[in-house]
Amino acid sequence: MIRKKNHKNLTINLPPKETIQVIQKELLDWYNQNQRDLPWRINKDPYRIWVSEVMLQQTRVDTVIPYYERFMKQFPTLEDLANATDEQVVKAWEGLGYYSRARNLHSAVKEVVEKYAGKVPDQPETISQLKGVGSYTTGAILSIAYNKKVPAVDGNVMRVFSRLFAIKEDIASATTRKKMEYLADSLIPDQAPGDFNQALMELGALVCTPVSPQCLFCPVQSVCHASHQGIQGELPYKKKAKPPLKVPVLFGWITSDSKVLLEKRPNKGLLRGMWALPTWEDVIESKALDTMQKIVIENNWLVKNINIKGNLEHIFSHRHWKISLVTVELIEQGLEPSSNLKWISLDDIEKIALPNVYRKALKMLV
Ligand code: SF4
Repeated sequence: MIRKKNHKNLTINLPPKETIQVIQKELLDWYNQNQRDLPWRINKDPYRIWVSEVMLQQTRVDTVIPYYERFMKQFPTLEDLANATDEQVVKAWEGLGYYSRARNLHSAVKEVVEKYAGKVPDQPETISQLKGVGSYTTGAILSIAYNKKVPAVDGNVMRVFSRLFAIKEDIASATTRKKMEYLADSLIPDQAPGDFNQALMELGALVCTPVSPQCLFCPVQSVCHASHQGIQGELPYKKKAKPPLKVPVLFGWITSDSKVLLEKRPNKGLLRGMWALPTWEDVIESKALDTMQKIVIENNWLVKNINIKGNLEHIFSHRHWKISLVTVELIEQGLEPSSNLKWISLDDIEKIALPNVYRKALKMLV
């Protein structure tokens, strides 16, 4: 029997008590035997767990591991990270993308030092006020580090729930997420809430995978609605998202005397505040050379040569850049450095935190 309960105007089907007990027991047993040996699981330090959870947002475990290990080596304690400069933090994050995660983590860690004497808060109301700490990160830190009974619903858990309870609603909608959080809240046991949250995520990562879930090896197959109905391949249901907007972009590789010109991205929007090659949006490929020639004339630059170097593409979450790369060799630097502009030697460019898309362009050049 399924019970119905109203919660904040939502009607939610809760599984019967016996099913909840089966899910709790089977998942915890399975997790104890099958959990992966991951570097953030070596202890319950809330700072280490926090960093891992932020890195794991939108990034796969295999990709995160080497970044995480390097980051923890560079900033082994919360104080080390709080004392670092923005540039150091962004550089350590280089390659992981979604740089606002690093910036938010950095400012939140500073707040923890200033307001909470370096101790990561252990109350949901307090920790969730920190920059970049949403309901998922709150649940993950509190349950794993502090053993608190707080659910943590990420994409893996959403997928598992949508199949386990045959929920045929759009998992990208806020209402479905709220329902799933409430479901998670009703499932989480008093004992080992952190292990239970991790078990759900681990099940999603290893068994109830996006494609071809391994139902035969699943510890909760006996109570799984999707598996019983044979619809596990059709779930979760997700409305088609709009494809990223295609934007033609011009990159300038502007050099002089073995130095290259870098420009700081605007303080708002994509890759905000990061150093980059000078970039102009809405310049189509056929106009790239003409546009660069106009820029050269407008700025009175003395030029040795201008050439089209090639094209590349890069897809962000909401934007799809189709890039034309144009090289410009100046006779003299002529451009004064400022807070938004600097000349950097080709040897030093490796030391700068450059977003991936510009590293890709660099590979075409060097
Ligand atoms: S039985 Fe299959 S569909 Fe159901 S939770 Fe397990 S792996 Fe996922």
